[in-house]
Amino acid sequence: MTFLETPIEFLKGVGPQRAQVLQRELEVFTYGDLLMQFPFRYVDKSQLGKINTIDVESSYVVLRGLISNVHLSGTGRATRLSALFSDGTGTVELIWFQGVKWVQESIKPNVEYIVMGKPSMFNGHINIAHPELEPVRSDETASRHPYIPVYSTTEKLKAKGLTSKGLSKLTEALLAQSMGKIPEVLPLSVIQKYKLPSREAALKAIHFPANNTEIQLATQRMKFEELFFLQLDYQYAKYQRQQHAQGHIFSVVGEKFNRFYKEKLPFDLTGAQKRVIKEIRADMKSGHQMNRLLQGDVGSGKTLVALLCMLIALDNNCQACLMAPTEILATQHFNTIARFLDGLDIKVELLTGSLKTSEKRKIKERILSGETDILIGTHALIEDTVQFKQLGFVVIDEQHRFGVEQRAKLWAKNVVPPHVLVMTATPIPRTLAMTLYGDLDCSVIDELPPGRKPIKTIHATDAQRLKLFSFMRRQIAEGRQVYVVYPLIDESEKSDLKYLMDGYESIARDFPLPEYQIAIVHGKMPSEDKDYEMKRFKDGIANIMVSTTVIEVGVDVPNATVMVIENAERFGLSQLHQLRGRVGRGGGQSYCVLMTKDKLTTSGKERIQTMVDSTDGFRIAEADLKLRGPGDIQGLQQSGILQLKLADIVNDEPIVRAARETVQHILDADPDLAQYENACLALYIKKKRTANDWGKIS
Ligand code: ADP
Ligand code: MG
Repeated sequence: MTFLETPIEFLKGVGPQRAQVLQRELEVFTYGDLLMQFPFRYVDKSQLGKINTIDVESSYVVLRGLISNVHLSGTGRATRLSALFSDGTGTVELIWFQGVKWVQESIKPNVEYIVMGKPSMFNGHINIAHPELEPVRSDETASRHPYIPVYSTTEKLKAKGLTSKGLSKLTEALLAQSMGKIPEVLPLSVIQKYKLPSREAALKAIHFPANNTEIQLATQRMKFEELFFLQLDYQYAKYQRQQHAQGHIFSVVGEKFNRFYKEKLPFDLTGAQKRVIKEIRADMKSGHQMNRLLQGDVGSGKTLVALLCMLIALDNNCQACLMAPTEILATQHFNTIARFLDGLDIKVELLTGSLKTSEKRKIKERILSGETDILIGTHALIEDTVQFKQLGFVVIDEQHRFGVEQRAKLWAKNVVPPHVLVMTATPIPRTLAMTLYGDLDCSVIDELPPGRKPIKTIHATDAQRLKLFSFMRRQIAEGRQVYVVYPLIDESEKSDLKYLMDGYESIARDFPLPEYQIAIVHGKMPSEDKDYEMKRFKDGIANIMVSTTVIEVGVDVPNATVMVIENAERFGLSQLHQLRGRVGRGGGQSYCVLMTKDKLTTSGKERIQTMVDSTDGFRIAEADLKLRGPGDIQGLQQSGILQLKLADIVNDEPIVRAARETVQHILDADPDLAQYENACLALYIKKKRTANDWGKIS
């Protein structure tokens, strides 16, 4: 056991009780864990406020002065402790409702204190409840520690005396005995190249900085370290796969591809589509298994690229499969692809959860015998009972709903793992892609097929509803179709469902039969009804589709030219962008109408304005990330980036990039981390693998 692995209860001042609460509240089990609890801010002791100029609206003040009149009142749960605090310009009241006895005993008379906390106004006086207290130290110590680190803490920690101050004391005690015991974890060459402080120095400085420069350097170093190891996790797995997992070599482009290209493809590929196919072709010939992310805005023609690649797999005597996140989408892909391949003697099948058991069994037999060339389906495809004769190429549509583990299950479906192409229409900002999909290579389709007119986006409120309805009538009179989408954030939310039904009824009144036909789709409907309604809209029988966001991804009705989004302020940017992408797919001018209430929050306004200003998915994704942070972006919840302690992938893009490049550089030269200089990294990987067994399969 190394110093940093020492259980936290061995630290002087901790003991079993505090150890337990540290574990439960902060997941601090060891010395090392405690050092990784970083201050979330620092109070500069020289930046003192004065009591006579306190702004009671401010969230935090730092004062320096003397405590007097310590006074205990009430009994039992109503016990409170109050004290007066003066700095020569005025007096405030300090109050405690909890940990009263402990505070009372620790306050010393005639000692100058620094007091920090949130001021509030009560009965005409300013008070500060549960302030942080820190005795002013002698000048010499004070100048060595001009900053007070502020740590996050919880009520349960505070009840054990582990306030920010308490945590800081423990950390200080730990650092005092850690001299020479905090080993470096980054290779020396990296430290030198970026002129990083050593790990020991950085940890000391991040908790007890001597000046602002130290804070900056230490923070940069710890952020770099954090991102470096995140990248190492991904990239090491990727390099191992490349080295040791051989891939199918698809050497020929044969009859199936060529016949489709010449006889069936009704248009020319865009330049971007051609480029991406070339990138994928190169992977397919390399002898290594491909794991590639294909990004492209909605309607950019990803599905077609995927189909062409599947045909190459078929030409090389392999099967291919395409996995979609929902049944609606899988069915739609099946229909599109079956139509494209009509007359080419290629067997395409659809496998979904709602098929009868006997049908499923028959399909599975045909997959195993190799009779089926292309299999399309939902999650059902990754079940162990689905076995291929020779699976060579896998397409995963809308990746963000599938995790690494699911991908790994697909790799395992063949002795030689299939090439994997992951398609996503959710444009991911580059930093995020680098972090989140560190193990994938990336291709981007950054060009829309020709002839598309940019969608016009309009912001409107209820006052303009009549105008909206007459606009919808004019579009329908021209033979166009209209979507009206309601938020149904939570399918179990009754009030949301009521919104949708009320909306449907009001539209049904204004667009009466027989002139107008309205379809409706929501998640609570049985899937046959959904399919029936979708079909009515796709076939052009229904003029208006009223729905929830179930139509968000992938649904393709080129004749639809108007997307009305109700309560648009309740949607996130990427969702709005996805929804808008449902129109503008044919040749006609398309419109997106964002209906909102009159008064919007600042961020609501910003989201709506971003949509009105831009149709560029990448720009919108960047804005989304800045507005909401990564936590709200779909699919990121399970990924490691949300557990980052210090780094922030939005604002630390240069560090993300540097960490990634550094890791690649190291692995290019030493993919197995066998060199002496990389021993610390090899050790890290080894520990991680034992701790986390699924690492083996990725
Ligand atoms: P994505 O999957 O990226 O959303 P799709 O592959 O579904 O896009 O393509 C959207 C529509 O554009 C489809 O109707 C498709 O047939 C058509 N399309 C794809 N590529 C081209 C192209 N190069 N030229 C014209 N139309 C295209
Ligand atoms: Mg698509």
